[in-house]
Amino acid sequence: MHADYLEKTGSKISYNSFHKTFKSMNISMALLGHEECEICSTMAMHKKDCHCEDVCDISEFLGHKTRYRAARKEYQQDSQVNTEEKRLIVSADLQKVIMLPRMEQFKTAVFTRRLTVFNETFAEVGKGKRNHAVVWHEATSGRRDEDIASAFYEYLLGARSSPRGIEPKKKENIVNNLLPLMPPNRRFFWNDLPLNAHAKDLTVFDE
Ligand SMILES: [Zn+2]
Ligand SMILES: [Zn+2]
Repeated sequence: MHADYLEKTGSKISYNSFHKTFKSMNISMALLGHEECEICSTMAMHKKDCHCEDVCDISEFLGHKTRYRAARKEYQQDSQVNTEEKRLIVSADLQKVIMLPRMEQFKTAVFTRRLTVFNETFAEVGKGKRNHAVVWHEATSGRRDEDIASAFYEYLLGARSSPRGIEPKKKENIVNNLLPLMPPNRRFFWNDLPLNAHAKDLTVFDE
C-alpha cells in the first residue's frame, strides 16, 4: 500500500509517517491476507542490503517472476473471457485456517478448545461473478489431498447444470459385461448413471 502510494504519487513520505496518518484517521493498514510468498520475501530481504544483482545468483527469483507474471496474464485473460462468454472459469484457493470460536474479547472463549475450520473458496473470475465457499471442520475431514479433492467435487456437483450422462449402448455394455465382475457396492454408481443419447465419447486410446 505504501509502496503503491509512492509509485503513483512520486512522493517521498516514509512508511512511518504514512502509517501514522492512517492511524490518526482510525484506518488500520492490514497486510492483505498476511500471505507472503517465500521467494519474493527472500528477494526483498536480499535487496535491502545488497545491490549486486549482476553478481548474485538470483535466477530462482527471476524464474519465479516470469511464472507469476505469466499466471497473472492468464488470469486476466480468463476474467475477460468469463465476462464475455458463457463459460465457467474459477480460481480456487484454500483460505487461511480459522480456529473457532473467534471471540478474542471473551475470556471463556480464549481458553476454550478450538475447532479447526477449513474453507476452500471457488471464485468465478471476472466482473460481477459469484463466489462459493466449501467449508468443513476437522471433525468432518482434514486437509490431506483427498480432502481438498472432495471440496472440488462438492463444488462441481453444485456448479454443473445437468449430468453429462452416458450413451445408452455404452451403459448397456458396462452393465451387462463389467458389472458382474464388480463388488456389489460399486455397482450402484453404474446402474444409476443417467442416460444421454448425445453424450460425447470421452474414451482415449493410447497408441
Ligand atoms: Zn513470489
Ligand atoms: Zn546480492
